[in-house]
Amino acid sequence: MRAFDDLAERFGYGLVITPLFESTELFSRGVGADTEVVEKQMYTFDDKGGRAVALRPEATASVVRAYLQAGAQGVFKGAYSGPMFRYEQPQAGRRRQFHQVGVEYIGEPSADADVEVIEIGFRLLEAVGITDATVLLNSIGDPEDRVAYRDLLTDFLTERSDRLSPDARRRMVTNPLRVLDSKADAAVVAEAPVPADHLGPAAAEHIAAVRSGLDAIGIPHREEPRLVRGLDYYNRTVFEYQSASYQAAQAALGGGGRYDPLAGMLGGAETPGVGVAMGVDRIVLAMPAAEARSSLDLFVVAADTAHRATALGLVRALRTAGVSADLDLGGKSVKAQFRAADRRGASAVAVVGEEWASGRVTVKDLKSGAESSVEAREVAAWIRRR
Ligand code: AMP
Repeated sequence: MRAFDDLAERFGYGLVITPLFESTELFSRGVGADTEVVEKQMYTFDDKGGRAVALRPEATASVVRAYLQAGAQGVFKGAYSGPMFRYEQPQAGRRRQFHQVGVEYIGEPSADADVEVIEIGFRLLEAVGITDATVLLNSIGDPEDRVAYRDLLTDFLTERSDRLSPDARRRMVTNPLRVLDSKADAAVVAEAPVPADHLGPAAAEHIAAVRSGLDAIGIPHREEPRLVRGLDYYNRTVFEYQSASYQAAQAALGGGGRYDPLAGMLGGAETPGVGVAMGVDRIVLAMPAAEARSSLDLFVVAADTAHRATALGLVRALRTAGVSADLDLGGKSVKAQFRAADRRGASAVAVVGEEWASGRVTVKDLKSGAESSVEAREVAAWIRRR
């Protein structure tokens, strides 16, 4: 995704590539054995050597594993892009193989790092034309804050266990926080105590700094006290992105959070980290149609078959000059070539015909309809001037 690659580069993230499948244990330890993702949605199998491996359901655990294996020193800013796999009931915006782009900012405890990764997700949505996104924000506190809160929540849920789903009754014992994001238990959850009311001073200060950091750069955000996200490794900040342009049942276009406990959970030295993962499939569904199709600077039209080779030469020269240019290779009529230009989202067309004998082509701006004759070697400059 070009918009993401540009952003990652500008924000100082280098490419990180991790394996598509890894030891199942990495995910059960990192993401959490009794999370939905690991318990129900992971594609796991034994390889020929009898090792339990899993198709990756997400990338954060793998990136942190790679960081630890590589010697785990200092700040690491990595960006990834690739397929993830979850065994789910397929529907619009929910696939068993889907594509995520994301960044991990490892080794930095400051709330400014949280603000930065939240900003990257937001700017990505903006860059592809989704300009109404809002960040849903919450803090689930630090593990030590959660001890007392967990007891409180467990008591609350136990008293109402007859109204809970079987999954929630089980999780209430293994991991009660997870009940908060259970859609099936929304009625009970609506009255439950929330983590944000039970933060320690450090976590409270941290989320306040995230909030004011987002305010300072004009990123709209809203408190979502029941947002806990489905993975065990998070602490403090958790967030998701929503937009009116994507209102399916599965509404988040992306999400992330701070995961200071993760490196320790994987057996490494305590290392703070924060990251974001954006769902490309859903983003494409939410993008305005004009943004979703690929666009070209210029479509070159050959006025007749005699000028086809010349048109191809012009396209090649323009591509070398950095202009995105294309043409029809199938010998279509001029009219059909114009239709193709339109379908391909070209912003301009250059017609190569008789004028070529005097080194000129006719260029047409497809938005304004304005036509003019320019020297063939000036076409790239004309594109840039517009
Ligand atoms: P998660 O960390 O599970 O919230 O995933 C981050 C983002 O990935 C979500 O906000 C979605 O946009 C996307 N995503 C997660 N699961 C799926 C799926 N099964 N199909 C398509 N997109 C998904």
